[in-house]
Amino acid sequence: MTLTTKPRGTNDIAPGEIEFWHELEERIRRVCSAYGFQELRTPIFEHTELFQRGIGEATDIVEKEMYTFLDRGQRSLTLRPEGTAPAVRAFLENNLGAGSLPVKLYYYGPMFRYERPQAGRYRQFVQFGFEVFGSADPLLDVEAIMLPLELYKACGLSGFEVEINSIGCPECRPNYRQELIEYFEPRIDGMCSSCKSRLHRNPMRLLDCKVEACQEVLAGAPPIAKHLCADCSQHFSEVLSYLDALGVEYKLNPRLVRGFDYYTKTVFEVTSKELGSQNAIGAGGRYDGLVEELGGKPTPAVGFAVGVDRLLLALKVQGKLKSEETGPQAYLVHFGGETKRRAAWVAHYLRSHGFWVELDYLNRSIKAQMKAANRLNSRLVLIFGEEELDRGRVIVRNMQDGHEQEADLQELEQLAKMVGECAK
Ligand code: AMP
Repeated sequence: MTLTTKPRGTNDIAPGEIEFWHELEERIRRVCSAYGFQELRTPIFEHTELFQRGIGEATDIVEKEMYTFLDRGQRSLTLRPEGTAPAVRAFLENNLGAGSLPVKLYYYGPMFRYERPQAGRYRQFVQFGFEVFGSADPLLDVEAIMLPLELYKACGLSGFEVEINSIGCPECRPNYRQELIEYFEPRIDGMCSSCKSRLHRNPMRLLDCKVEACQEVLAGAPPIAKHLCADCSQHFSEVLSYLDALGVEYKLNPRLVRGFDYYTKTVFEVTSKELGSQNAIGAGGRYDGLVEELGGKPTPAVGFAVGVDRLLLALKVQGKLKSEETGPQAYLVHFGGETKRRAAWVAHYLRSHGFWVELDYLNRSIKAQMKAANRLNSRLVLIFGEEELDRGRVIVRNMQDGHEQEADLQELEQLAKMVGECAK
């Protein structure tokens, strides 16, 4: 069973599906380059401490979801559950902030979380994310929302909603934490064990608890707004005014917090109405303290991560994933022996000129080879008959209109041109 079954919560992306991923990856690269982002590739695993410090100890990810293991040198390593902490680590380690600011980086790749698998929630999933280092400008918070929206729109997605909030900075939080503790303490008996254990360690974490039994209490929790310091209030109102000026629709959600400790000021989430309970197709926010927390000098930053699997699910529901009819430019039919050797040579020549060329490897009859060419939707069939080969020629049959002509095997350049013409 384990030899033919993938681990729970993982997916194979097979032909028929992979084309959609390629197209989306292409769009991601295009929109990133329009906004001036460059790609950063980091390792799939990092030192466990990076995530413990970066994401925060009292979070679901660090407490319950990490794939952590000791390597043969007894070092604790963790398969990356998210991309921001590794991006900050790489930013510092490679001294990427030494040039002009801000620095704009994007990443794309698999993330790993030990979560309960369901539609849209996997243990290995793909995130595309980006980070901007070195500026606290509220316009960058807004661009961090606009870039993924551009991507969603470019894919043809509709029916998504942006929710936004400000969760302040370390200066605003002590009073808010106190108010939360006072609100939750008399109600904590009816809440889940995670909430109980986090109440005094990190009361803001309770706000993004997903346990059903906790939702009623959470709905009545006090919002942070009145505790925001002057700087955070001012920053948030500038974010909102840029959003208005740029015509970005959003909904204020005073209870939105995010499952990571590193966020400061603006946080946002985009949901799709096409998806069920796992409806977030991307989320992000500002994290002005993280670079310093991980050993760098104070560096404001903002970022966003898109769940690529979920985005494709939403596009599928909306019927936006259409597979294009493809097929080889030429299928080379041969009779074995010398004809096969010549066909192999011509296949090699045409492939080196960039054409998709197929031929028979199963010693099938001519009829079966023609059928295979048809099934593959090949534009042309080149027939390597013995009699034609003796004259140094090959038959070229156009599969669309059935028209046949001969080509000279001494003039392969001519043949390639012919294949190119028919392939248009
Ligand atoms: P997060 O890093 O938790 O803020 O998640 C950012 C985005 O990644 C979410 O909005 C989802 O679209 C996606 N995502 C997070 N966890 C998973 C998962 N387990 N499976 C699939 N997608 C996920």
